Amino acid sequence: TVRTRFAPSPTGFLHLGGARTALYSWAYARHHGGQFVLRIEDTDVERSTPEAVQAIIDGMQWLGLQHDEGPFYQMKRMDRYREVIDQMLKEGTAYYCYCSHEELEVMREKQKAAGESPRYDGTWRPEPGKTLPAVPEGRNPVVRFKNPKEGDVTWNDRVKGEITISNSQLDDLIIARSDGTPTYNFCVVVDDWDMRITHVIRGDDHVNNTPRQINILKALNAPLPEYAHLPMILGDDGEKLSKRHGAVSVMEYPGAGYLPEAMLNYLARLGWSHGDDEVFSMDQFCEWFDFDHLSSSAAQFNTEKLNWLNNHYIREADNGRLEALVRPQLEKMGVRLDQGPALQDVIGLMKDRVNTVNELANASLMFYMEPDPDPELVKEHLTDEARAALKEYAANIETIEWDREALKVMMKGVLKQNKLKMPQVAMPLRLFLTGQLHTPSIDAVVCLFGRETVLSRLKDL
Ligand code: GLU
Repeated sequence: TVRTRFAPSPTGFLHLGGARTALYSWAYARHHGGQFVLRIEDTDVERSTPEAVQAIIDGMQWLGLQHDEGPFYQMKRMDRYREVIDQMLKEGTAYYCYCSHEELEVMREKQKAAGESPRYDGTWRPEPGKTLPAVPEGRNPVVRFKNPKEGDVTWNDRVKGEITISNSQLDDLIIARSDGTPTYNFCVVVDDWDMRITHVIRGDDHVNNTPRQINILKALNAPLPEYAHLPMILGDDGEKLSKRHGAVSVMEYPGAGYLPEAMLNYLARLGWSHGDDEVFSMDQFCEWFDFDHLSSSAAQFNTEKLNWLNNHYIREADNGRLEALVRPQLEKMGVRLDQGPALQDVIGLMKDRVNTVNELANASLMFYMEPDPDPELVKEHLTDEARAALKEYAANIETIEWDREALKVMMKGVLKQNKLKMPQVAMPLRLFLTGQLHTPSIDAVVCLFGRETVLSRLKDL
């Protein structure tokens, strides 16, 4: 069965690239009815923090990328790494190296002088018939992997196609430092093996690690996973995505008024396609997702497209759900929500017009504030004819059956009677009701405000 993993290093927030990697790994497991494993690669103790772990878990939770197993922490698996290192030492696929820093430095200088690229020269590498140097006293050795000298490493990358690296280009990698701690590439290998990962989906900044990891897996007689290395995400200016481009952390998006389904749909399309389909649910995505339609070139982040999707999902969203997001924002602004129409109804009316939940909160404000129309605008829009028509309109408001359709018919009658066009009356009416010129259809706005409010705002005509 398919088993994928997301293996972030908790050194910062969950960024957009990481979220996309997690999404694809999750979707691939879902597609095949397999399992998705979360693994926290926290061996860089200097840079790893519990806050960053939490930020990653929060981000995945917001997106709904539920893992089936984990989170596993590498720092809790040290005994297991030690065990595998001992096994490799015993089997001769790894060996102790006692070279000091100084010796390695000299080695490197010599190679540089000879125009060679620096690499470990194999001083402590055991070979049949070779005598090793005497073990220096009081020096703790590192453990090196005995990388094959001959041949190539080849894998068929599911994004990049076939990749071949000659073993002659690979060093005898250090797998344990002189203090005994295992190194990064080694931990990844043992974990992918123990966790029975079948498909490694990760950023293409790890392509260089893959041949080393494959060699170690082979030395352990472990099955080889498939690899899919995703190209990176660029900002809309074609530069590597960074703070400069705005929010890079996924968890900045909920606060900025984005819905998780918009972010998911956006990330899904960022480097993968299914014909011309732009809008789809995660169920649909999991059904469609495969490696064949992953793009092999870098994807560009495009805020406009994310906004467009967010607008779509806001329109689709249940008004009660939106209210739960909007209400705290308005309350924080000190808005008196009891002094206006039901917030859910306001949301239902305004949600088509906004790109974010925050814009929705701002757009809802006008229903709860005393209007304060600009006198200049009133002067411009409230002609004598319009004033007469609005007086008639206000008189009708007193007795009319309160219903949007009835209000519309009544307005039409008033317009006809006064030989005016809709904007000539609707614009000043908008100003009196909301202080603004841009609102949804005037009948809908009037209907929402209710008879009393409308009358009180037209009383000084
Ligand atoms: N911990 C690595 C990172 O955050 C990912 C390693 C992997 O996926 O193999 O970049």
